[in-house]
Amino acid sequence: MRIGHGYDVHRLVENRKLILGGVEIPFEKGLLGHSDADVLAHAVSDALLGAVALGDIGGMFPDTDPRYRGADSLCLLEQVVRVVREAGWAVGNIDATVVAQAPKLKGWILSMREKLAAACGVEVSQVSVKATTEEGLGFTGSGEGIAAHAVCLLLPA
Ligand code: MG
Repeated sequence: MRIGHGYDVHRLVENRKLILGGVEIPFEKGLLGHSDADVLAHAVSDALLGAVALGDIGGMFPDTDPRYRGADSLCLLEQVVRVVREAGWAVGNIDATVVAQAPKLKGWILSMREKLAAACGVEVSQVSVKATTEEGLGFTGSGEGIAAHAVCLLLPA
């Protein structure tokens, strides 16, 4: 087995869509980034790449490359999963946590799991997404940004 960990943060700004786990969530602000800034998809991608020790998505999809401007991060995740498969590994399970003071994400969790599972080519039951606040503390608490943590387990393909 291989274990991987991913962590990502993006800043919340006005005039951007909020995309988490491939789901567009109605909110007054969105995450800033070169791609669609899907912080959850990025953390999951980094967990997968970490598990096979193949760097991170910043290295695989540089933010200086115009090809990835506004990129759909689920498509990037699909490419990461392809690399993981080529390395001889299959996704066992993924567990992720989104850290956001707002909006409330409870109603969107299943949709996010479905989108991430589809991108990874696994069952929804293999993908967990949780959400928490940090009780008003720090940069997530003040609404400056959203963070995401992810771990994954890979099994021989
Ligand atoms: Mg990112």
